[in-house]
Amino acid sequence: MEIIINEDACIGCGRCTEICPKAFKLNIEKMKAEALPTDDLKCADKAANQCPTDAITVNNN
Ligand code: SF4
Repeated sequence: MEIIINEDACIGCGRCTEICPKAFKLNIEKMKAEALPTDDLKCADKAANQCPTDAITVNNN
């Protein structure tokens, strides 16, 4: 599984980190989300679906 975050689109709202902290963390300096290594597709997908700017892509390959 691969998680890609479009940094241009991310507004640093932190929603993904609240929904799925095992897959996302907020880079405070950049105010952008970063992906963490995880195999929890369900959790990552849920966060991706809740991102207000559609900045998260989850590839299950
Ligand atoms: S939910 Fe989307 S906009 Fe908000 S921090 Fe995560 S990736 Fe960025």
